[in-house]
Amino acid sequence: MSETRINEAELEQFKHALFSLRDGLQGLEASSKEAPDQAASDRLSRRDAMQAQLAAGEPARRRQRQLGKIEGALRRIEAGDYGNCFICGEEIDSHRLSTDPTNTRCVTCVEG
Ligand SMILES: [Zn+2]
Repeated sequence: MSETRINEAELEQFKHALFSLRDGLQGLEASSKEAPDQAASDRLSRRDAMQAQLAAGEPARRRQRQLGKIEGALRRIEAGDYGNCFICGEEIDSHRLSTDPTNTRCVTCVEG
């Protein structure tokens, strides 16, 4: 119906990105607070590492929230429910999801 409908390949990419983000965050939680996340970074692609690095700058509470969002997104992927706006039920633009795979609202609902 819609051209922005995410396809299976994109879904795999989002899943991969979400797993990488989660690994990065969990690695941070597991390692001591002052230790750099070099080990985690080495396993990640440059793009994922950048995202993990962004996450590394977040306070622990925000990281926990981010982890929750990641888990939620992964659950929705498993349920085949991923990519639909929580508010209006419309499909979220895949470009929007590639910017942040944990997005749960379409651009209309975020701005509205
Ligand atoms: Zn919406």
